[in-house]
Order: sequence, then C-alpha cells, then structure tokens
Amino acid sequence: MKKYNFNAGPSMLPREVIENTAKQCLDFQESGLSLMEISHRAKNFQPVVDEAEALVKELLQVPEGYSVLFLGGGASLEFCMIPYNFLVKKAAYLNTGVWAKKAMKEAKLFGEVVEVASSADANYTFIPKGWTCPDDVDYLHITTNNTIYGTEIRKDLDVNVPIIADMSSDIMSRPVDVSKYDCIYGGAQKNLSMAGVTFVIIKNDALGKAPRQIPTMLDYRTHVEKGSMFNTPPVVPIYCMLENLRWIKKNGGVEAMAKNAQERADIVYGEIDRNKLFRGTVEAEDRSLMNICFVMNDEYKELEKPFLDFATERGMVGIKGHRSVGGFRASCYNAQTIEGVNALVACMKEFEAKN
Ligand SMILES: *Cc1c(COP(=O)(O)O)cnc(C)c1O
Repeated sequence: MKKYNFNAGPSMLPREVIENTAKQCLDFQESGLSLMEISHRAKNFQPVVDEAEALVKELLQVPEGYSVLFLGGGASLEFCMIPYNFLVKKAAYLNTGVWAKKAMKEAKLFGEVVEVASSADANYTFIPKGWTCPDDVDYLHITTNNTIYGTEIRKDLDVNVPIIADMSSDIMSRPVDVSKYDCIYGGAQKNLSMAGVTFVIIKNDALGKAPRQIPTMLDYRTHVEKGSMFNTPPVVPIYCMLENLRWIKKNGGVEAMAKNAQERADIVYGEIDRNKLFRGTVEAEDRSLMNICFVMNDEYKELEKPFLDFATERGMVGIKGHRSVGGFRASCYNAQTIEGVNALVACMKEFEAKN
C-alpha cells in the first residue's frame, strides 16, 4: 500500500533526493568508492559543500557578509552556541514552546535573559502579540515555527535589535529577509535533509563580541574560517541537503515552496474546519503551514484512537499528535504532495461519514 508520510522529523524528502543520494552512497560520481568512504577533504567532495553553500545563499538571497555553515550537534547544540557567541550581557527570548524554552535555558548560563512574551499559560496555542523588545539586548531569539504546537511566525519581525532565529522546521518554506538576522539556524532533518547536519547562516560582523573564551569547536569563527571543514562534517547528510536544495531550485525556489505550502495547508485546515469531528488546536491567524495540529471535537473524543487506526490502515504515517498536544499532527514540509494531503482529507471525510 502507498504510504503518505506526515512525520514531524526526521521527515519526508522528495523521492528523487533519496534516490540520488542512495546512488552516490553506492558509487560516488563514478569513482568506484561510496560517498560514505571518501575523505571529506577529497577533491570531489569540496564542490559538494561549495554548491550547497551557494544554493542556500541563492535560494534565500543571503546578503554579502554572511557565512553558511554545516555543522553537527543539531539545533539543540546551537541553543548553547548562540549565547556562547552572541550574548554579551542581555538577550531577549520569545517563548513560543518547548524548543524556545530549551534555547532560553541555555542562554541563562551566559547572561541576563528577558522573556519578552510567552503563550505558555495557553499551552502555546498562539504566538504572543503586542509585546515590545528592549533596545538594550544583544539579540532577540525567536522560533519561527513551533513544530510541536503548530504555530508559526511566517514573516520577518520588525524590531530594533538583530534577530536570531531557530528555523529548524520552516527553513526554505518561504522567502526570508536575511539582513534582519544575525543568525538563522536549525537541524536539517525537518525540511532540508536527512538527520545529522545542522545549518547555520551567520552574519560575520556579529561574531567576536562576546567577552568570554569559547572552546574551539563551539566558536562559530572556527567554522567560518575553515568553511565547515575544521573537523569531519556529516558528509552524507550534506550531500543529501545538496540534492534537496537542487530540487527546491528546480521546482521554483522558496516562492514556489511558499505557494505550495499555502495550498496544502488550505486543503487540510479547510477540512478540519468543515468536518464535524475535528477542530484545530491553535488560533487561526497563527496556524503553521508546516505542522497542522488538530484534535477530535469534545463530543467525539472516544473516536480518537479509531480514527488513528482508520487513517493508518489507509497509509497515513506519523499523524499522531505530540504527547503535549494530543490528537493529530500532519506535518506538511516542502516534500509533501497535494496527493498526500488529499489522501488525508479523504480519510477524514470517510471517517465522518461512518460516524
Ligand atoms: C526538531 C527541532 C529542534 C531540535 O532539533 P535537533 O536537531 O534534534 O536538536 C529545535 N527546534 C525546533 C523548532 C525543532 O523543530
């Protein structure tokens, strides 16, 4: 049976990206060696890193003066590297969920942290509005897409300080004005590649201000100077990212990705709002286009498990909601298809008719 992959992360990748990466794993550029068994310093691997970097810059129109890095450690290590490198005295954090809180926890080890706003009391069902950011902070940290709760900030905020953003789960899903950010980072396993590589887009001038000694591996300058080659980078995930970046470019770039995301989300949210069994969990204006969260309406609560089984039998994978929200979550990253969301909607309709 055909499977429709709604996993939140690691998540769906375009079939051709997987196939092309698999091919290089068997025989890298007809060298007779696998991508897995060559040196990261091999003459034919450097062009992979160079092209991936160039494509990130091209697709997001990254201005001059920024570096693109491919590191290990996941977004979770960046939670610590960000304040290590950027926090001089005080930083502001917008608390929109578990990942934002984890980022904040690390920052507190390095200086004063101001929580500018939080939707924790409402289980993060909306993005706080109407708050102001102090002018005297070194940066404002935001999480643009809250993977667990299904809320998203789909625009570049207007504040008087540099923004640092965790874009783990919505990178390359829309155009971004990179000039507003000192740093954009994330684990690649949601919308860019397989697990194992972390992308970091960093403003070079913003580095070197923190008044502390930074261990070599945690100092962004190390990786900027060495072009992500200070130590062995995650070779296969970087190659997989390159294939995905090529796929994004071939399919119209981030504008097209944004249009497709909107189209898919309209189909799923449209059905959630129409179907008597279901309701969305977050405020309509903050609905994520990437992670669509919904639950059974109260009077149908006992149908939750039956619907999950029903949809699973029809090939839906990964639609069980995160334990802190419950219900269902359909993750619709760039690789998700209209066919996939239509299949999910068909399940919802069919299940409604039966109940
Ligand atoms: C998944 C996720 C993370 C954690 O990423 P790791 O690479 O596993 O450390 C952080 N932030 C957001 C928004 C995420 O979705």
